[in-house]
Amino acid sequence: MQNKLAQLTDLAIEEFKQAKGRRELYDIKVKYLGKQGQFSVIMKDMAQLPKEERPVFGKVVNEKKNLLEQFYSEQEAHLKKIELEQKISSERVDLTLPGPKRTTGGHHPIALVINDIVMILSRIGYSVRLGPQIEQDWYNFSALNIPADHPARDLQDTFYIDPSHVLRTHTSPIQIHTLENEKLPLRILAPGAVYRCDSDISHSPNFHQIEGMLVDKKVSMADLKGTIVFLLQNLFSTQIQVRFRPSYFPFTEPSAEFDCTCPLCKGKGCRMCKQTGWIEIGGCGLINPKVLEATKVDGEEWQGFAFGLGIERMAIIRYGIEDIRWFTENDVRFLEQFTS
Ligand SMILES: [Zn+2]
Repeated sequence: MQNKLAQLTDLAIEEFKQAKGRRELYDIKVKYLGKQGQFSVIMKDMAQLPKEERPVFGKVVNEKKNLLEQFYSEQEAHLKKIELEQKISSERVDLTLPGPKRTTGGHHPIALVINDIVMILSRIGYSVRLGPQIEQDWYNFSALNIPADHPARDLQDTFYIDPSHVLRTHTSPIQIHTLENEKLPLRILAPGAVYRCDSDISHSPNFHQIEGMLVDKKVSMADLKGTIVFLLQNLFSTQIQVRFRPSYFPFTEPSAEFDCTCPLCKGKGCRMCKQTGWIEIGGCGLINPKVLEATKVDGEEWQGFAFGLGIERMAIIRYGIEDIRWFTENDVRFLEQFTS
C-alpha cells in the first residue's frame, strides 16, 4: 500500500512537470486529487488494512496530498509567469515601426490651377477679387458692352433666374464691380465658377474661369502680351512660345485670342494639340472705352487690358485629363492623384 502511494505520488509529480499549460495542469490535479481521483480510490482501499494501521496510512495519504497540492501551486505559478511573459512579448509595441498612415484631404485640380495662376501673377502686383454667382443683367452683359440683341444673351446659352438676373456666364462682372468701387490704378484677378447651357465631353454647364484686368495710364498690347507670356511660361515651361490671333469680344478693343506651343509635345504635334503644335488658351484685349465709360472711368486718362482663360482647360493640358466631367464626378480615385 505504502509503495503504491509513493509510486502514485511520483507519477503525479512527473505529470505535473510535463504539463504545458495551466489548463492541462488542472486536469492532472483533478485526475489525482479530485473526488473521483486516484487518491480517493486509494483511500477506499484503506478499508482492507488492519484497523490499527489505518490512521497511520491516512496520515501518510494526507501528507502526500498536501505535498502534491503544494507542488501544484508552485507549478501553476511558474506556468502563469511563462504565459504572462509570452503575452507581453507577443503584444509588445515596437515604437520604431512607422505609425498608421492618416488620410488627409487635398486640393481639387481646379483649385490647384487657380492657386498657381494667382501665385504667379501676385508676383507682379495682381490680387484676387470675388463676386456673386447670380448677377444682374447690367454686370453680366450691359456694362460689358454686350447689347440686348447679342447672341451671348440667348436663352439657349444663359441660365436666367428672372428677366434681369442670370447665373454669371463669365467672371467679367467682377471687373465692373471693381471699376465701380475701387481707386485706380488696378491689377486684379477674378477667379470663379461660371455657368452656360452646354454639356458634352469638352463642355460642362458649370466651369471655372480666371480673368485678369489691369487699368493704368499708358497701357498697350505689348504690356498685355508680356503679362500673358510671363503667366504661361511660369505655368507650363519657359520653353513655350505665345502667339496672338486677332479676334472679337464686345468688351475689348482690339481683341485677340492667345495660344501657346503645346507643352506636351513642345510644338511637334500630338493628340492634345490636334497635331497643330499649338494650344488655344484664352481671349484678351485692351478694355473697350465703352466699358470704361459705363463704369465712369475717364478713358482719356486711363486705359487697361483684360484677359481670361478656362481653368478646366488648363488642368486638362497640365494633367492630361481626357474628359471634363471627371472634375465634377467627385471620384476619390481621380481626386487622390492630385494630393501630395
Ligand atoms: Zn501637342
